[in-house]
Amino acid sequence: MKPEVLLMGPMYGPTMEALEAAFAVHHVSKAADRDAFIASLADRITAAASTAFRGMDAATMAMLPKLKIVSHFGVGVDSVDVAAASARGIKVTNTPDVLTDDVADLAIALLLAAVRRVPQGDRYVRDGKWADKVFPLTGTIQGKTLGIVGLGRIGRAIAKRAEAFNLKLAYQGPHRKADVSWPYHANAVSLARECDFLVAACPGGEPTRGLVSRAVLEALGPEGVFVNISRGSVVDERAMIELLREGKLGGAGLDVYDHEPRIDPAFFTLENVVLQPHVGSATHPTRRAMGQLVVDNLAAFFAGKPLLTPYN
Ligand code: NAP
Repeated sequence: MKPEVLLMGPMYGPTMEALEAAFAVHHVSKAADRDAFIASLADRITAAASTAFRGMDAATMAMLPKLKIVSHFGVGVDSVDVAAASARGIKVTNTPDVLTDDVADLAIALLLAAVRRVPQGDRYVRDGKWADKVFPLTGTIQGKTLGIVGLGRIGRAIAKRAEAFNLKLAYQGPHRKADVSWPYHANAVSLARECDFLVAACPGGEPTRGLVSRAVLEALGPEGVFVNISRGSVVDERAMIELLREGKLGGAGLDVYDHEPRIDPAFFTLENVVLQPHVGSATHPTRRAMGQLVVDNLAAFFAGKPLLTPYN
């Protein structure tokens, strides 16, 4: 008999196939009554797999007394209550490194798209306006300063790309990094004051909620552009929308939002934002690699071997 895995929500198709091939998978998303379904499996389930949209909260853990591992699809584990898992002796694994380059690519794409108004230019050509009037000139990223909120794996990959685009760099985070020479700021307001553009690349969840506050965005200013590839919770979204509407923040390039995928419709009316549907890691090779880690961590757990990418 295959070992049993509780799948909290749908994943990348090939990952679901790999999970089905290796394990007896119980799909929470297919249950008519979620809690009754989980309760019916409670005496057997030792392993679960979760996603950014279908995580593992403390209440669900409490329903699964034999749970020992949550194999999470994604590097950000804010949809998993890691503190509750640790308290119950449940191991959480995530999928670091394999997605870093794709996410960093998207951050730079969003920055360029927002500053050079790439989507607006595309619409201008499609709407047949070019023949009548040249497209208005835009700002540039050349010689400007990019502030990175969270100089981790993705933040560093963004920095590497930014240097190739002649951007100067500065960063903010809990720890100053000994191996980089870019200016360090202990808080995000002081970082934003020194920068033309800001990119959030830190984790989401309660510890960073509202870190990119109204004051940070005001410090970035009317010529400033904010890029978010971390989590919607990191920015004060209401303040961001107001400042964008009033021209007090120049622009934004966003991959993540509060209340995804039903985002605030106010975004649709703003001309100075570039919007992506949370696709930082959404390329086939990266999603395949992430899925392989989800499967391999579960396989290691059932084989009694060390986990590949433990988070807690
Ligand atoms: P990581 O290597 O753990 O880096 C996270 C960085 O954030 C660390 O350098 C940490 O600083 C910093 N940080 C923690 N708390 C902070 C705070 N209060 N203020 C500023 N910085 C803080 O993680 P990663 O692999 O780069 O991933 C980062 C995040 O990107 C994930 O957690 C996830 O939310 C997001 N992400 C989004 C997508 C997408 O599709 N858009 C895809 C993948 C990941 P220290 O080093 O000083 O501790």
